[in-house]
Amino acid sequence: MSAFAFDPVVLPAAAVALRADVRAFLRDERVDAIPAARRANSWSVFDATFTRKLARRGWIGMTWPKRYGGAERSALERYVLLEELLAAGAPVGAHWIADRQSGPALLRYGSEMQRERYLPAIADGECFFCIGMSEPNAGSDLASVRTRGVKAADGWRITGQKVWTTHAQQAQMMIALVRTATVEGKRHEGLTQFLVDMKTPGITVRPIPDLAGEVHFNEVFFDDVHVPHDMLLGQEGRGWQQCTSELSLERSGPERYLSSHALFVELLRAAGTAPASETLRQTIGRMAAEIWTLRQMSLSVAGQLAAGRDPAVEAAVVKDLGNSFEQELPRRVQAVADSSLALEDDTPLARALALLLQTSPSFSLRGGTREILRGVIARGLGLR
Ligand SMILES: Cc1cc2nc3c(=O)[nH]c(=O)nc-3n(C[C@H](O)[C@H](O)[C@H](O)COP(=O)(O)OP(=O)(O)OC[C@H]3O[C@@H](n4cnc5c(N)ncnc54)[C@H](O)[C@@H]3O)c2cc1C
Repeated sequence: MSAFAFDPVVLPAAAVALRADVRAFLRDERVDAIPAARRANSWSVFDATFTRKLARRGWIGMTWPKRYGGAERSALERYVLLEELLAAGAPVGAHWIADRQSGPALLRYGSEMQRERYLPAIADGECFFCIGMSEPNAGSDLASVRTRGVKAADGWRITGQKVWTTHAQQAQMMIALVRTATVEGKRHEGLTQFLVDMKTPGITVRPIPDLAGEVHFNEVFFDDVHVPHDMLLGQEGRGWQQCTSELSLERSGPERYLSSHALFVELLRAAGTAPASETLRQTIGRMAAEIWTLRQMSLSVAGQLAAGRDPAVEAAVVKDLGNSFEQELPRRVQAVADSSLALEDDTPLARALALLLQTSPSFSLRGGTREILRGVIARGLGLR
């Protein structure tokens, strides 16, 4: 059986210095004054104005080459930036997908024209992306996507439906996974990725309100949508391999354990320096220890990615444990709030708690479900 590799990482001096800059920026922007319920799960909160402020600092696409609008900074500096933004609850949802995975996918598979057109626009905070992978009958089983691309003289014609597409209503671009051929007995072949301009005629975006009444994700319908030849991303028929190579980037970041962090901060504020009960004190202590452990594991994966490795199994472990933690946190706060804090309805703590009790069940679905991740981990360990 194989083992996990979670080697400790020592942050370079540049990353330590950057942390101070980010904290000063967050103080100047008064992020702590944003209501706690909006600071929760803040990587889903869309705020194009805030994104542009980060862009002006060079904090979007910061690891990319300068010729594409990047700042050529290290992956560990980027990690520090992300953990500070998320721990503070900054509204980073507008550029999150483009910065985390669409941009890196363009760098890896895009043509020179595609990189020059989109990467500087992402780094400027002007171009947002969404991910068109899931379909009504293809979520965990992505190889069964049925949205179809047919080659024509002037490009491709795409027809089908995507679902759960985060920020499709605001994004200018989608990277869509489309079936372009059927290869008998080889369902992972014949899939292709396309860069799709969301303003193309034939695209309909229908919002899906979540349990809390918020609209983050959508259904997206394609009716004979024209996509030019030069908007095919990477290689025709290699969409599966290209998609799965994004997953370590998608799964291991600090967003996978910090989605409920604003609630932990509010709990600390409500508890004060002398928590009212031993139960409250123990709950806070345990949660702090768990956050620290998850942080060290997530940082270790970032270190491996920075060293050019693909820690897919470790990334899946971080996501599984991190999602379990951020999903349980609201329930643990609810239990201790009932027994140890006289929780009033209209407090920041109560509002953040109400929101997270409703939305946290989705944390272990987005980016690959718990059962799928455990399958990945078992396979990586040679157990299946
Ligand atoms: C908040 C949120 C945002 C999202 N944003 C996007 C987005 O931007 N773009 C996008 O493309 N998708 C997005 N998704 C979709 C997400 O990737 C899918 O929901 C996820 O992959 C699961 O697919 P499904 O919903 O079809 O469930 P299914 O695949 O039908 O799974 C249903 C249940 O069966 C279990 N299951 C399925 N197969 C197996 C198996 N082989 N072994 C054991 N158990 C199994 C699953 O774990 C799950 O519990 C988002 C989802 C959420 C909740």
